[in-house]
Amino acid sequence: MQPKDTYCVFCRSTERHVPLTENQQRWVREKKGATLYVGDLIMCAGGTCRKVRSSGNTRRFHPEFLRIPEGVD
Ligand SMILES: [Zn+2]
Repeated sequence: MQPKDTYCVFCRSTERHVPLTENQQRWVREKKGATLYVGDLIMCAGGTCRKVRSSGNTRRFHPEFLRIPEGVD
């Protein structure tokens, strides 16, 4: 998956989003459960935002409560 510019609900603007690294995908699974599909998740790279959302237009995932902490890269 390539980085893409898409809307971030936290920044309230269009920001560059990047795919999660393996470490970050593992971190999300620890928070959300091992069965969560994390392959399409992207992270806002705008400043220190680091909010997670799904790449597609799906409602199954609620990224407003999930933010990758500093140091998980
Ligand atoms: Zn953001």
